[in-house]
Amino acid sequence: MIYLDNAGTTKPFDEVIKLCNDMLSEYFFNPSATYPSAVKVAEMINLARATIAKELHCLPEEIYFTSCATEADNWALEYGRKLKNGNVVISAGEHAAIYEAAMRLKSKGVEIRIAALNKDGTVNIKDIERLVDKNTALVSIIHCSNETGVVNDISTISQMVKSKSNAVFHSDGVQAFCKIPVNINDLAVDLYSLSGHKIGAPKGIGALYVKRNRHINPLIVGGGQERGLRSGTENTAGIVAFAKAVEIFNKYCDREKMAQIRNYIITRFRNIGNVLINGEEGRNSYFIVSASVLGIKAEVLQNMLYQDGVIIGLGSACSAKSSENRVLSNLGRSKKEIEGNIRLSLSPTISMEEIAVAMEKIEKNINVLRGKI
Ligand code: PLP
Repeated sequence: MIYLDNAGTTKPFDEVIKLCNDMLSEYFFNPSATYPSAVKVAEMINLARATIAKELHCLPEEIYFTSCATEADNWALEYGRKLKNGNVVISAGEHAAIYEAAMRLKSKGVEIRIAALNKDGTVNIKDIERLVDKNTALVSIIHCSNETGVVNDISTISQMVKSKSNAVFHSDGVQAFCKIPVNINDLAVDLYSLSGHKIGAPKGIGALYVKRNRHINPLIVGGGQERGLRSGTENTAGIVAFAKAVEIFNKYCDREKMAQIRNYIITRFRNIGNVLINGEEGRNSYFIVSASVLGIKAEVLQNMLYQDGVIIGLGSACSAKSSENRVLSNLGRSKKEIEGNIRLSLSPTISMEEIAVAMEKIEKNINVLRGKI
């Protein structure tokens, strides 16, 4: 199988699986306990926190582990409740974890303002500027789109927002972390969400970066873990695996190779013809190619490719069950173009040879579906 749905989830790296096994069989102690074996596990968590902090260029104490990025995103959005009369600004390109959390705030009376997307898939900065005012309590803008791989200029956006308001600035960094260089200081964000299973760690581990001295209320209360902000016995295997995955992902991640692979895929789609690449013009992470293949139904192509040994995605997993695609329709794609939308998302270990084989099969099956074969 050639697996091209890595933005949905990744196969954990072998070394990560081994480490998880060790954590579960040997280092299973509760890190809050005081005997030496438990203290050792607490130290392992601290080392993992330091690794993730180093990758973001932040302090270890600014990292709070969560069960997933959906939790981190929901937690960040809770800020919207802080200012009674404040509004919350998000973009039309947000993942469902932000979008639905914002809709829930709306149902509780918070004013939600949604910034439009440009045709290239980036968020329209002028629209954010128009929407933000001195009553804006929180702004949340996705760093790298899970649909198109397009990267937003978070640094410019956050500075503009801060010049107009006292808003807390959050960015969902799930598809950016490790895939593009992320320096949290340059981004000038207050909150930033991460997920482990998008970079070779198991599912069930995420993190929220909270800038030092920013007050955030806990989403989950109880035993006071994570410096009192995120209670619940730590997912020790997940945390340690997350940090290991960062190290291994970085070892494999050759951005030049990824750019070449992405360009190759786009050229192959051009040669097939009648394929629109979504977000081609904007700056891209290189890990995602979103293509609207005209004249086919994406689910049918996905099934045929599965039989042929290639797994592809259909837009984001969270929106795959719905025939609508909010992000693509906001960047101007028609219903027909969305019906034929496939998403190829890459792992850093993929080779050009594997991609060439996958593209051969993709071309063959598109031609079959278009009645050419
Ligand atoms: N944000 C983005 C941009 C994502 O791509 C995803 C996963 O698809 C999430 C949030 C949710 O991550 P998790 O599965 O860790 O909850």
